[in-house]
Parts: sequence; structure tokens; C-alpha cells
Amino acid sequence: MEKKFIGIDLGGTNIKAGVVSDVGKLIAKASVATGSGPDQVVERMIQAARQAVRDGNLEMRDIEAVGIASPGPLSSADGIVLRSANLPGWHNVPLRDLVGKALNRPAFLENDAKSAAYGEFTAGAGADETITNFILLTLGTGVGGGIIYHGRLIRGVSDSAAEIGHMIVEPDGDVCGCGQRGCLELYASASRTGKYAQHLLAIAPSRASSLRSLLAAGSTIDAREVVEHAKMGDELANEVWDRACRFLALACVNAARWLDPQMLALAGGMAAAGDFLLNRVKHHFARLNWKMSETQMQIVLATLGNDAGVIGAAALARDAEHQR
Ligand SMILES: [Zn+2]
Repeated sequence: MEKKFIGIDLGGTNIKAGVVSDVGKLIAKASVATGSGPDQVVERMIQAARQAVRDGNLEMRDIEAVGIASPGPLSSADGIVLRSANLPGWHNVPLRDLVGKALNRPAFLENDAKSAAYGEFTAGAGADETITNFILLTLGTGVGGGIIYHGRLIRGVSDSAAEIGHMIVEPDGDVCGCGQRGCLELYASASRTGKYAQHLLAIAPSRASSLRSLLAAGSTIDAREVVEHAKMGDELANEVWDRACRFLALACVNAARWLDPQMLALAGGMAAAGDFLLNRVKHHFARLNWKMSETQMQIVLATLGNDAGVIGAAALARDAEHQR
């Protein structure tokens, strides 16, 4: 009989839990509102996990282990969330043991973006045995990522490897929340892409753009609106989108220089633009990339959507023995 695992993805708004087969297939899933404070959040994580087990017509004893994907910073080895920007009041919370004890199952804790990367690597875009070196870039409110090198998830000595969103792409750029200047996520996240459009509209009040009607109606602009208006031919929206894609391509070139992986997948809100993102990034990648030899790295879209964290956390619980 196939073994089954639980993956729990702790987000700022929702907690998603799923029962996942040993080949990465999602059998059942449940979602609850996150709540606030460690006690309530842990309670709801357990509630979501139990709900997913029930929905899969299973019992907790059918589950081998539980993987938890959480925002960081955290210690995966100690199973502790050190603090969290999205979860106020969290300080050194032993999340792995709290959840593991309540469900009476072995539990494992990993950063959410790294979990998503492992999910895409094992069951999504990178689920091909010829792919052993893989990078995921998630483009949401911020930019996150994960790296798998020769089949192993790279954590770094303090769990802060693959903070790709804080790769510096503009040395004299704006100051990021992390304290550095010119981080990638200031130029290529979904929220910043929208903000840059608003900035261009504000500094050139006479410049025509269909995006102006959104501001006039009191709406804010996010990457989704930028894409929509760029596709309709709006020049300013195209300029904004092209700039975000250029910075992403720059990150892709640097990723290829560091690791020479077989694949880099793009995920998150901005990846909803599909080929409109992919083709523009590939165009700039070809332009910016070195000419010494052909780069093998394929740039693709991720395939698991919002389930990547749950599937990846479950896969990390399955593979815990050789992923430590
Ligand atoms: Zn930063």
C-alpha cells in the first residue's frame, strides 16, 4: 500500500493542509483561516490536518509523517520558527514539536519557499529524473526561492540560502525591508511592479495610459492590472512589465552563473501571466546571458500553483532521512 504524508502550508491568510501520496499526488486538502498568535495558529494547523485526513477517508494512523512549510526565519534542524514578519507575536516558537505532538506523528519544519521548490522539483515542473539541479523563483508580494543541487535541498548554514529575492540587482537602488539596497524583490515582485506603474503615472501626469482610469476609480495597481493593460497595448504598462521581466532575466543569468542548473521555474502571482511572463523573461535572458557557450538551463513556468508548498512539505517529510 502506498505511504501517505501530510503537508501543512502556513500562510499569512490561510493554512492549507493536504494528504499527499508517496509519489506526490494530492489525495485530499483542507484550508482554514490562519488566525493570530501561536496558540490559535497551531490549533488551526491541527484542525486543517485532521480535516484533510477525514476528507481523504483516512485516519491519522494511516499517515507516516507531517511536513510543515512556514514563513521564516526559522531553524529547520531545531524545528523552531524564530520570528515572522507575517505572523505578529511569533518568537522562537517550537512549531515542529507542537504540531508533531498534537498529531502524534513525526514532524518536520521547512521554510515555505524552499518547500514549494521541493514540491515543484519532486512532483511539478522539475519532476523528471533527468533534472537533478533545479531552482524555483516565486513571484508574489515578495520574491522567494529554493535551490535543489544534485537532488538535495540547499538550506545554508543558517537556513538562509536561496533568499533570491534579496539578491542585489541595483547597487544604488532603493532600501529594502531587509536593510540592503537594490534587492530583486523591489524590482520584480507583483506588488512592486504595480507600485512602479503608479510611480510612472505620478511623475508624468500628462503621459497617456489606460492604467490611469484605475487610479481615477480609486483602485490600486498590481502586476495583474499591469499585465492586462500591457496585453491591450498600453505603452506605459508594457514599459513597466518589460522592466520587471528584465530584472528577473538578470536574476536568471546570475543563477545560471552560480549553479548552472538544468531548470529554473517561475511561480507565484506573476506567473499567472503565463507565456506573457515567460517569453519576455526568456527574451531578456538571451540578450543578457553570456555568449561563451550555450546555457543548458531551461526557464519554465511552475505547474503546481498554490499546492506546491503542501506537496513539497509532505515530500520533505517523506525524504527527511536523506534531506537532512
Ligand atoms: Zn532585501
